[in-house]
Amino acid sequence: MTRWRDLYCGEVRPDDVGRTVAVAGWVARRRDHGGLVFIDLRDHSGVVQLVVNPERAAEAAKIAHDIRSEFVLRARGEVVARAPEAVNPALATGAIELQVDELEIVARSEPLPFQLDDDGVEEPLRLRYRYLDLRRDRMQRNVRLSATVISAIRSSMEEQGFIDVWTPTMTLGTPEGARDFLVPVRLQPGKFFALAQSPQLFKQVFMIGGLDRYYQIATCWRDEDLRADRQFEFRQLDLELAFPTREDVLDVLERVVVASFEALGRTPPPRPFPRLAYADAMLRYGSDKPDLRFELEIQDATEPTRGSEFGVFANAECVRFLVAPTVFSRAQLQRLEEFAKEWGAKGLAYLVVDESGEVRSPIAKFLSERELEAFAAPHGSTVLFAADTPAKVERILGALRLQLGEELGLVDTTRDEFLWVLDFPLFEQDEDTGEWTFVHHPFTGPLEGHEDLIESDPGNALSNAYDLVWNGWELGSGSIRIHRQDVQARVFRAMGMTEDEAQTKFGWFLEALRMGTPPHGGFALGLDRFLALLAGESNIREVIAFPKTAGGSDPLTGAPTPIPDRVLAELGIALKPEAGTGR
Ligand code: ASP
Repeated sequence: MTRWRDLYCGEVRPDDVGRTVAVAGWVARRRDHGGLVFIDLRDHSGVVQLVVNPERAAEAAKIAHDIRSEFVLRARGEVVARAPEAVNPALATGAIELQVDELEIVARSEPLPFQLDDDGVEEPLRLRYRYLDLRRDRMQRNVRLSATVISAIRSSMEEQGFIDVWTPTMTLGTPEGARDFLVPVRLQPGKFFALAQSPQLFKQVFMIGGLDRYYQIATCWRDEDLRADRQFEFRQLDLELAFPTREDVLDVLERVVVASFEALGRTPPPRPFPRLAYADAMLRYGSDKPDLRFELEIQDATEPTRGSEFGVFANAECVRFLVAPTVFSRAQLQRLEEFAKEWGAKGLAYLVVDESGEVRSPIAKFLSERELEAFAAPHGSTVLFAADTPAKVERILGALRLQLGEELGLVDTTRDEFLWVLDFPLFEQDEDTGEWTFVHHPFTGPLEGHEDLIESDPGNALSNAYDLVWNGWELGSGSIRIHRQDVQARVFRAMGMTEDEAQTKFGWFLEALRMGTPPHGGFALGLDRFLALLAGESNIREVIAFPKTAGGSDPLTGAPTPIPDRVLAELGIALKPEAGTGR
């Protein structure tokens, strides 16, 4: 046998009938019938049916006896048209088959831990045998789709004049709000690198260094609890440009999104994407990443409820409500109340307006005409209230809105809703210590005209930060940066950092800022999230070849593992007994 294959399995076509070709792939299925052996041979491109007929190829028929699922075969034979009754219109190759002349078992397979066509396999098992999982259609599609999109992203960035520059993995800690993964240095015992939480400071330094349009598909490491949209290590399209307006940065990203859709042959979302101020997003949707595939907006009733006879409303700092387009039963309302409590509500006041317009509610008797008018809801609906601090009300109604959207089938899953959320607060107050801390990262610039609020009214200082949201997922964040050392120093000070601390942590960067720093700004697009959504997946692990489990380990290799004492000793590290023995 010479060439491994002339055609991929899925490439054999009716116009190949009469040709002799070689194919190679995995055995998806074998069937014996009427003295013949039928083998579905599969590779990433599709399936072709082999027919082994002992009268045509006695040697091949002998070999075929041995063949089991997932053996690797090479077959050479003639492409023939199937009998009309045997045509499978569901398959591109369903009208033809390969009458085998030569058959070779290239590699055998042990019985598999799961069947590749079983969709119900638990994730730990899929990850433990990821190489088998990768053979399946879903993972093949996701991994290949990812490669197509990444290639389109690179082309778009390069067409827009960006150059790909690498930044170090092992570095000084970068403040992105997570814990660092640390790397001990054998040659300098007691000292550690941090794995980059992002290339943030390096990309800003590129602007100082005159590389005015930088991008990178950067891997970032953040030690935080894992979720459906979070991994310890993840990729982002990281970019930075000099002398940009905010619109310039948004434009770059919109082009990248459009190019990605086009690369997949999909209709791109219309540009420009809608923009919404953070404060409006919180007010109307109770979220800084609202899902706009359904309406259901939160409404404010703080003013009409001042002086209400219903004490819960009168005494709350903020009263807001949602009008669900359905008449909820008592049991359903009870369940929604439980849900609201999980999000911090003390209870869930409601008004049910039935089909005839009659209002059913334990609180109706306390409410004035004016209040009832303010909550006016159509017949056949339920008004659900939250009354508390604005932050709590936003959290509760934001969660309730999403829950109702899903439960009532309000989400139009055929829509793709992109959104820019702008004008985030510059600082937020730490719930425990009451100290001001950054919302994005400490290098985010204040909105023009808000510089003086840094000291006088930090809670009301807005930043020039922006997030990209797609169907309720935060795809990424960016900002126009602080490019002046004095403003940077003021922000550090507002966060309670002394001059000395700022010098120790960021002295090198503050020094760089003093040496001719052009205004600059950038963005980081969470690539795994973007790819997952493009692939129609709700978990980023489905677009990562070797992800960690929700518990943070890799079932395939067994990492992380303990390290022998001898290796730890070389690094100058001794483990506390409760941290394990190191063996
Ligand atoms: N460094 C930020 C992040 O990783 C993104 C940015 O501000 O460009 O989220």
